[in-house]
Amino acid sequence: MEVFFTIVFIVMFVATAAFIVFGFMTVFNPNMRSKWVGRQLQIHKKVLEDNKETIKDINSLGGEVAVDSLNDILDKKGDDMKKAADRSAELSKDSIKTVTRSIKEGLKDEIYCKHCGDAIDADSKFCKHCGKRL
Ligand SMILES: [Zn+2]
Repeated sequence: MEVFFTIVFIVMFVATAAFIVFGFMTVFNPNMRSKWVGRQLQIHKKVLEDNKETIKDINSLGGEVAVDSLNDILDKKGDDMKKAADRSAELSKDSIKTVTRSIKEGLKDEIYCKHCGDAIDADSKFCKHCGKRL
């Protein structure tokens, strides 16, 4: 019995860990999130298509209308949803780049010339771009 609980514990631990790792990967990797959304849309469409007849049989006309309108929505809006996910991925990438650049610049020990606005070394006495005294 103890062995059984140990196995159950290990399986649950591994599953939880995998779930958390996957969650973090999709949150922090915009490309992966975009791909994931695209795949989810495909899966939804496939499940709907595969079960179209069953759903129709169960729900008769209502089901048919529901399936058709869901398919319509996916046909019309599926691309938009994918585009929105791609756009959000792009924006996330841009903001990550901006933050990275700011951090890099903050670490570089550079200041900006008050005359021409170019980047100069923090300890220089004259601007290397406009030559004015700092
Ligand atoms: Zn200058």
